[in-house]
Amino acid sequence: MQATELVRQNPSSFSWHEIDTVLLDLDGTLLDKYYDDFFWETFVPEVFAKKNRIEMSAAKTTLLHTYKKVEDTLEWTDLDYWSNELDLNIPQLKRDIGHLIAVRPQVTEFLEYLKEKEKKIYLVTNAHPKTLEVKFERVDIAKHFTAMFSSKEVGAAKEQPEFWNRLKETLPFTRDKTLFVDDTEKVLQSARDYGLCHLIHIAKPSSKLPPTFSRNFPSILSFEELM
Ligand SMILES: [Mg+2]
Repeated sequence: MQATELVRQNPSSFSWHEIDTVLLDLDGTLLDKYYDDFFWETFVPEVFAKKNRIEMSAAKTTLLHTYKKVEDTLEWTDLDYWSNELDLNIPQLKRDIGHLIAVRPQVTEFLEYLKEKEKKIYLVTNAHPKTLEVKFERVDIAKHFTAMFSSKEVGAAKEQPEFWNRLKETLPFTRDKTLFVDDTEKVLQSARDYGLCHLIHIAKPSSKLPPTFSRNFPSILSFEELM
């Protein structure tokens, strides 16, 4: 399930009249993932190095190891877990670089397009409720969603099969009438395993990195391609 930088192989093939519900990921899909990458890969290591009086390279190695331990789990997204684990005020640090939180190109237009087409729009995110709070202080997109579902509330990460079973208990979507957009292949695969038929991969989640097209899912650079 590796993404590739080759030209894209899967054009998206659904028509809007088949879709009544749209599930949207947040980070890397609606918002620029550069903020999250910079936060965990640069800003937290800097603060951690300073606090523990160690070199930046040592901080990065330690943190990478610590991050890996909880990859694809709820802990990874839990700001309270990280505040305890690293002995840092993670929500405050998130706010300290809040100026980097940005909506990806064409997102607002796409959300308005969906509204015009009378689709139900839901946010489906692994982001912790405290992260959502920080992000929605900066970007005005929350008003577009009929409801928001965070993994913490659902009780499983989107990569885990239980997530989809539990989501379905609260949100009665139809598998073949729902479009799901995400930038993480593992998450899209988990949705596919559950039986969602219409899946779209975001090939350019970060404004600062080159695009990486998926080999396994229809992969788009911009929402313009869906309008
Ligand atoms: Mg994402």
